[in-house]
Order: sequence, then structure tokens, then C-alpha cells
Amino acid sequence: MMARKTRSPGFWDGLFTDILPRTHLYAAAAVGLGVVLLLMVVPSENVSAYREDQLADIQVTDSGNRAAADLSVIAPDIAPEPASEPDVAETLAAEKTGPAAPILQWREQSVRLGDNLSTLFQRLSLSAGDVYRVANAAGEAGALKRLRPGETIAVAQNSDGELVQVEYRRSALETLVYSRTGEGFEGQRIARDTESVPAYQRVTINHSLFLDGSRAGLENELIMRVARIFGWDIDFALDIRKGDSFAVLYQEEYLDGAKMGNGAILAAEFINRGTRYRAVRYEKPDGSADFYTPEGRPMRKAFLRAPVDFTRVSSNFNPNRLHPVFKTKRPHRGVDYAAATGTPVYAAGDGKVIEAGYSRANGNYVFIRHGQAIVTKYLHLNSKSVRRGQTVKQRQPIGTVGSTGYATGPHLHYEFVVNGVHRNPRTVDLPEADPIPAAQMARFASQTQPLMAQLANYSETHLAALPE
Ligand SMILES: [Zn+2]
Repeated sequence: MMARKTRSPGFWDGLFTDILPRTHLYAAAAVGLGVVLLLMVVPSENVSAYREDQLADIQVTDSGNRAAADLSVIAPDIAPEPASEPDVAETLAAEKTGPAAPILQWREQSVRLGDNLSTLFQRLSLSAGDVYRVANAAGEAGALKRLRPGETIAVAQNSDGELVQVEYRRSALETLVYSRTGEGFEGQRIARDTESVPAYQRVTINHSLFLDGSRAGLENELIMRVARIFGWDIDFALDIRKGDSFAVLYQEEYLDGAKMGNGAILAAEFINRGTRYRAVRYEKPDGSADFYTPEGRPMRKAFLRAPVDFTRVSSNFNPNRLHPVFKTKRPHRGVDYAAATGTPVYAAGDGKVIEAGYSRANGNYVFIRHGQAIVTKYLHLNSKSVRRGQTVKQRQPIGTVGSTGYATGPHLHYEFVVNGVHRNPRTVDLPEADPIPAAQMARFASQTQPLMAQLANYSETHLAALPE
């Protein structure tokens, strides 16, 4: 039942024991816990067989909803049980149904925009009294005040038409169950854990980061996270070239054999124009995690490489065009990022706004001072969202891309000034964030070296497997 992605056992087992020694334990625990939870939670396709077993006398009448569909397609010959856990299933079945189990009718409704418990119960033809009793359940009642579209509420009535149970399914991982206790209801939260399975992918960029990444089977969300890790060193808006490549070792999260999403990135490398950058995830003693070079230097810098979302920058922008007003090539002391009007512009680093104004040449502009030495400048903004004297944090929006002042089209003109001298923002050495304290270096090494070794291992296996 906890079927994983098909894989060669030896290959993956090495991973489990090498880098994720606890995963086996989690998996074992998850199997046990899973059985318990499956009996109580959503009647998905995988679990409907169990449900049939233990609640054999449930009658499903509302054929128009998904739960009904799931239950109605149960084939009697589905073997519900792996040999290892029959006792648990039987015990729970006995507990839950008991000798005089009521006959329940289940119906469900999807939460719509603007719904609250009252409107939703109305659609299920339940009474205001039912709304009141469930909304005032002992435990977990607060959750019912924040219904979100896409969630589901299923209700069970007994043969007298009395509401006896409500299942509020917030996600595949979380369900709240409200059960009648005499006159009132009692709520209980049921959470499930996904199973983490390591995965690896290497991508060579021939067309674009996202196109080649998704052709290799990576979700945009994961590609974006890779770019975020290396975005301090590489300007993803302007510096990606055909032939660049990246590799990523990450976790995929599974529930009942179905992929629910991607988990943490464990290690990654990016080769940009022949230069190799490597990053590894390190979990600090306080539980927070960040990315570092294998030598323990933080990937995160005190400044963003590009103060605008690179996915919104158009690549066919020629910063060397003749100036439209002066018809000459003017000395250019910054970087231009062409993007649609309204694209957010971020503060490159923590600092203080020293100018926020308008001039004929610059249009709307913002200057930020960072410490004593560095000033960053943002020109041609459509709008400004900070004022002079204001303190800003890194990645805080300070305005939007526009074409005010001397600008041919909407773009951000960005300058990086160190001690009064303009530096190229794309290549200037950026100050690093806090390094790992010396006292933690042994811990860092023991945690991250296996991950880097695994990344290298995968790369070799992967290259060896490529066709000649
Ligand atoms: Zn410019």
C-alpha cells in the first residue's frame, strides 16, 4: 500500500542508509500509522477497500459526488491488506463498527468561494442547529471558520436523519473529524505524513532554463528553487547560456504511492559559462536550513544579484542601443532589465532609502544605502513604494518597473556603487551573509559531505547511463 516509485532496490537502499538513515524508520512508522489513519480519513481509491471492510453497512446514496463514486466502484476481489498488518485492521474494524453499528449516509460538498459552514450546510440541507453544534464542537472548531475553496466537507447522517459525523478534508494530508457526542460534537485533527524519496536530475540548457528543466521532468517550482539557490552568484535574467547545465538532488514526497510534491533540495550544482557552482543544504542546530558551498560558505549574499524577478525579464533586450533622445551610445553605468510595467522591483539588500524622487532623466527613482560603502540605485520606476529615510529589508518591494524618464520602454536600470565608484552589478563580488561558526564546522561536514558525495555519485551513474 505504501508503494513507491519503481526503482532498483540496491541503488536506492544505498541512499537510504547513506543519507537518510531515518527514512526507513519513518517508512515503517508510516505504514503502521497509515493503516490507522486510512481507516478514519478520506475514502480515496487506495483506501476505499479498507473502508468497505470496516463499515460494511454504509449506504452511499448521493451518487453525484466523489466519495460516492469511490465507494461504488469497489470491486469485491480487491485485496485490501498486505500480509503484515492484518491485526491492526481487524482491531480497528471491530472498534469502529462495533456490534450495533448505525447505518450512515455520507454526502459531501466542495467548498466554494465565499462559503462558510452555514452556506455549505444549507446546500447539504442540514439545519441551523447542526451548524451551531458543529461550529461549537469541543476541539478544532476554529478550523471551520477558515474554509477555503477546493476543500471538502463530508457529512454522515444516521437512519433517523441525524447528523453524526462531519469530515472536513483540508488536504490529502490533513482531515478534521467531528463526531457526535450526545448533544454536541467533538473535533479531532488527523494528519498524515508523506514519505520522502530521494530523486536526482541533471539538465543541460539548450533552449531555456524552464523549457529544458521541464522536459527533464522537473516542475517549475523546483527549477525556481534551484535558481534561487544560485541566484546570488549567477544573474539568471541575463547570464544563462546554451550549454549551461545543472544537477539537483532533492526529495520527492509520496503519499500512498502518489507524488504529492517536492521536498527539500539536498544538494545541487550549476555550471554557468564554464564555471561550476555547488551548493548543499545544511540544517542548523536551531532547525533552520540554508544552502552553503561544500566549504561552508553561505550561498546567500548580502545583496540580490538582480533586484527583479528573473522570470519576468525579457532576454532580447539590447542595452547598447542608441539612446532615443540623444541618438548616441551613452556611457552606461548599470544594468538594464527589460520587464513589463508593474513588475516588482526589490531592495537588493538591507539598507536605508536615501533618495526617493523624480527627475527628467531618471524618472521615478530610489537610492538605497547599505552600510557605509555601498549604494544601489533603481531608475525609471513606474511607481515607488518607499520614501526617503525608510529602512528596507532585502527583497522588500520598493516599486515597480516602468518607463519614466529617458527610457525607450519599460525596464529597470540598476546601479551598484561602492565607495562612489560604479561597479558592474552582474560581476561585482558581493559581501556574504553570516558564515557557519567555526564551532559548527565538524557538524556541517558530517551532515553535508555525504550529500555532496551522493550528488557526485549520481552524476557519474547518470553520465554512464547516457547514450554514446
Ligand atoms: Zn540603463
